[in-house]
Amino acid sequence: MVLHIDMDAFFASIEQAINPRLAGKPLIVGSRGNKMRTVVCAASYAAKALGIHSGMPSREAFSICPDLEFVAADQSKYIWTSEQIFELLKEYGLPLKYASIDEFQLEVGTYPDPLNLAQKIKTQIYANFNITASVGIAKSWLLAKLASKLDKPDGLTVIDDSNFEQTLRKTPLDKLCGMGGKIGAGLIAQGLKSCWDLYLNLPEFFTESYHSSDKSGENPGKSGENPGKFDELPKSVSHSYTLSSLQRNPQVIQAWIRVLSEMVAARLRQKNLTSVTVHLWLNGPEIGNFGAQKTHQLATNDGYEIYQRALKVMAKSCPKNPKIRAIGVTCGGLSQDSYQPLLKEEIRREGLIKALDRINNRFGEGSIHPAITDLAR
Ligand SMILES: [Mg+2]
Repeated sequence: MVLHIDMDAFFASIEQAINPRLAGKPLIVGSRGNKMRTVVCAASYAAKALGIHSGMPSREAFSICPDLEFVAADQSKYIWTSEQIFELLKEYGLPLKYASIDEFQLEVGTYPDPLNLAQKIKTQIYANFNITASVGIAKSWLLAKLASKLDKPDGLTVIDDSNFEQTLRKTPLDKLCGMGGKIGAGLIAQGLKSCWDLYLNLPEFFTESYHSSDKSGENPGKSGENPGKFDELPKSVSHSYTLSSLQRNPQVIQAWIRVLSEMVAARLRQKNLTSVTVHLWLNGPEIGNFGAQKTHQLATNDGYEIYQRALKVMAKSCPKNPKIRAIGVTCGGLSQDSYQPLLKEEIRREGLIKALDRINNRFGEGSIHPAITDLAR
């Protein structure tokens, strides 16, 4: 069995938990600070009850409810809370995955009482953060995610053999993960209305089970300049480069880290992979072989993000301002999970990256590149 834990109105609930004046009120979190010229990126349940939802222009939300409370989104707060919840869930010692900033998946296998476990998790999250989660329990991820949505907020829903047919019959198809967009609309146009209709046509869609070891990745092997350390990351993508001369200028070194990060990111995207672990390797006369890594909860295949993470590794563990001869950037902890960006900045960057990839695919690698990387040429 698997547990899908989905936080209820996550950003809005965090704002209400932090500021009790907002508790219980209709509230929207806007993706930008100008409250009349932004888009709702989260709505509290009191706002949802009025018909306000995420994706709606804030002006429209205010026309529905002039007294609406407004808070501008603060990514750092939400990411921090998300990471704290992840840490809390890790304590259970069961295979755990980040599904998105506010969704977590726990594989409970043949755990004797998953319902009790789910209740415990809900209680713990509420006690620690003063926000609620809805939990779905089922045999597959898809069904567990569906179950988590059926009794929001603060829900706890099991889909098992006893209620499988009944639940699928009464659940509209577009509630199912992946059926909200064109595919779902196409199937609905063909006359499939409920999840049960889809099950009758495509039963295997529902029975897919969790294989934590079945994530595809690649091991490009060691390239000439890489030290043996890279072997510690069995599934990784890496690029390294030996500079033409010893280099101490931090800007040039950073430029090379950016180049390598972008190269690694482009390969991850080609293979539809995302990574949680960034490893930085540096070689120089004073530091010898320096290697350190950090694993983050949120996966990425954005070169800029990988670069930022590599710089943090360097700032934290590497001796200050060393002479450098060679540099390597490796991304590990790979998976093919699609991550749905929620934050405006992430969505903007995703669009930007796609555009850059298209340009480089058409006009040749490096046709368009970050300005900083010119220092590395
Ligand atoms: Mg949620």
